[in-house]
Parts: sequence; structure tokens; C-alpha cells
Amino acid sequence: MRVRSLGVHSLIFRAHTSSRYSVAALLGSVEVDSRLQSLNIHAPIDSPDSLIRQGIGHGNVVVAHSVMSTQTNRITHEVRHIKKEFDNRVILVAGGPHASARPSELIEMGFDYVVIGEGESSFRELLYQLLNDSDPISVPGVVSKDSDTFPLPKSLPRITLDDYPPFALGMNIVGPIEVTRGCPYGCKFCATPFLTGGVVRHRSVDSVVHWLRKAVNERGFRRTWFLSPNALCYGGRGRRVVMDQLTLLLKETKSVEGLDLFFGSFPSEVRPEFVTSEILEMFRQYVSNRTLQIGLQSGSDSVLENANRHHTVQEGLDAIDIAIDTGFIPHVDMIFGLPGETEKDVEASLQICEDLASMKANIHGHVFMPLPGSEWESMPAGQLSDRTRQILGEFSRKKIMTGSWSHQESLGKNLEGNQ
Ligand code: SF4
Repeated sequence: MRVRSLGVHSLIFRAHTSSRYSVAALLGSVEVDSRLQSLNIHAPIDSPDSLIRQGIGHGNVVVAHSVMSTQTNRITHEVRHIKKEFDNRVILVAGGPHASARPSELIEMGFDYVVIGEGESSFRELLYQLLNDSDPISVPGVVSKDSDTFPLPKSLPRITLDDYPPFALGMNIVGPIEVTRGCPYGCKFCATPFLTGGVVRHRSVDSVVHWLRKAVNERGFRRTWFLSPNALCYGGRGRRVVMDQLTLLLKETKSVEGLDLFFGSFPSEVRPEFVTSEILEMFRQYVSNRTLQIGLQSGSDSVLENANRHHTVQEGLDAIDIAIDTGFIPHVDMIFGLPGETEKDVEASLQICEDLASMKANIHGHVFMPLPGSEWESMPAGQLSDRTRQILGEFSRKKIMTGSWSHQESLGKNLEGNQ
């Protein structure tokens, strides 16, 4: 087992738009840990070189990345550059979805330590060990090139959300509050169940209100968003609405003075079969968003069934109708190129998009990417036919569809190539 002379002085957590929520939550957990107060912490969006140079004048520097599977090319370049420029004065640490799904790849890339699973506890334990010149390999979930085995996220301890801040208020690195983690569904294109487990955990209403009051008082928050795989499952076990818990969350959050509340809109989403008039009427009393993010994903029941979605196209259309009737603008997620999708299925999805447009719904178009950790991680990436690409382009020009489907096609190909 390797122990190197560490003497850590600085933590540079590379911020990027794709991982900003993770950075906020992880730095939140670090900044409230009294054992880590001597660390000089930065979260630069741009090149960290000048900060590294400043830091290594005082001791070793930890550079941390939360790695999304779609960002590995960018991070590979940066890791190579840091290794070349600063050699062993920098300790490179990776966490995030790709670390949990492909830890050995990140070690080969050059990271010294990889944090598998939830980072709130293990990342700060790793930092504590480094501050004390110890090898953090004993921390559950932390691995290095000296590790014999790499654990799966499901074998590691799960955190309690209330035990950690939702964001780094002291550093003013903030984001939406994650109110729910874990998902009992197993959609085959999604890595969430692998990463966060099938057991649903919620941040308590008291904790949400506590942090929002602080955010209003200390940082002048005027609005808040929430993060959840399915906003309507708040308070329950994930498979049905628990109306009193959901109402309590919205009511108590809304009672924080001066705060506008955005719930069920991006970056959270709702599963269609959870949507009822009763719930959305209740929502309207509290939320400021007029959009509702609904995951329909396909216009074909056979594609939905194949993807293990556990809802039908009709349930999606019913949810969209209810949203419109209760005064919301539905933002509907659709994925093209899912495994097993036939031309007929694509036509059905395109027709649904036309129908949604005539209902004044907005569509968010995606192309299937074989995400590491998802059940379909080994499937071929989705590819649009010329005709579908042309039609989606038309939708985009008419401003009824947004999305980065071309970019996702190439990211998907890249993921496929890395398997
Ligand atoms: S897509 Fe949503 S409902 Fe399906 S497994 Fe992922 S988080 Fe759960």
C-alpha cells in the first residue's frame, strides 16, 4: 500500500456546468466539517493551473473532479496536463457517476484516488486522511491502483441526506436542494438505480426549511429549485404519491419568507402516472413554475415496455392533458434511438411530438446514450435517420423542441467506443 508524503494544503474542486450540483453538495459537506477547516478550498471553472502553482508553494494540492460519463474526454486531457505539469505535488481525486461505474478506467487515466458511491461522507474522510498524511484507501468506497477489488455502489453505506448540507452556503456555491435520492424503478437507459439504489430516501421538511432560511438570510436567496428523480414521490417509498408529505414540503418551503418555489420543473421531473388534477391543483397554491417536466420518453408502448418504464403512452398523454387543464405548460422528455425501436416506433414518437406541439406543450428531445451503470450500457448508441434528424430540426426551428440530440449522438458513439 502506498503512502506518500502528502502534507495537503489546498483543495481545488474543478467546477463544470455538467457537475455543478454535485460540486455544491460535496463542498457543502466539506465546509461544515470542523476537521477540514485548514484546507484552502477553490472551485474554479477555468484552468486550475495558477491555483495549483499558488497551492504547491504551501504544500500538496488535491484536485478533485466529479466525472460524468459524457465528460471523460475533457477530463482525460486535463489529468494528463496536470500530471505532466505538476507531477506528484498534486493528488488527483475522482468521484461522480463515472467513478462509480468505471473506477479502473479513471485510475488508468491517472487519478490517484477514486471515490465510488455517494461522496458526502467518503470524500471528506478521504480529505481528512490526506491532511493527516495517511493513505485514504481504508475509507469505504475509496480505491486506488493498489486496491485489490472495487466495490459496487450498492455494497457501500448509504448516507442520510439530513446529515449533510444541500449546498456550500459558506462558499456561495449553491444549487437546487436534493430532496429525494434513489429510485425504485429500473428504466434500462438510466444509471440512477445503479448509482443511488432502489431504496428512496428523502431530505426531511425540517432540513429543507432550515437550509432555505439560512440561504435567504445569509445569501439573499429569492428562489429555490429541487432535485428529485420523481418529484411527486416525495415522502414515500417511491411508487406512489404521499399527498400529506408532498403538501407539507411545499407548504413549509413556501412559508420561508421571500422565496419563490420551483418544483416538478427542471432539474426535477415527474413520472406521468403520478400526475393527477388533485396534486396539480395543490401545486398551484405553492409553486412559481408554470412548467411541469414530464418523462414520457417514447410514443410507442412497446418501446416503453422494452425500456421497463412501467407506464404507457396513454398515461403520458393523460398527464399532459391534466397539466394543461390545471394551467401548467408540460415540458415533455422524449428519447429517440432507444434499443429495439423500429421505424414504426419512431413515427409514433414523431406523431406524438406533433400532437404535443398542437397542445402547446414543449418537447425536450434526446438521443439514447449507453450510460455506464445503466442496464443498457452495452447497447449501441442511438442514431437518428436523416429524415428524423430533419424533422427534429424543423421542430427546433418552430421552437417546439429543445435539446442537444446531435451532440448526444456523438457522445453516445464515444461511450460505445469506450466500452
Ligand atoms: S428514468 Fe427516472 S424513473 Fe426511471 S429509473 Fe431513472 S430516475 Fe427512476
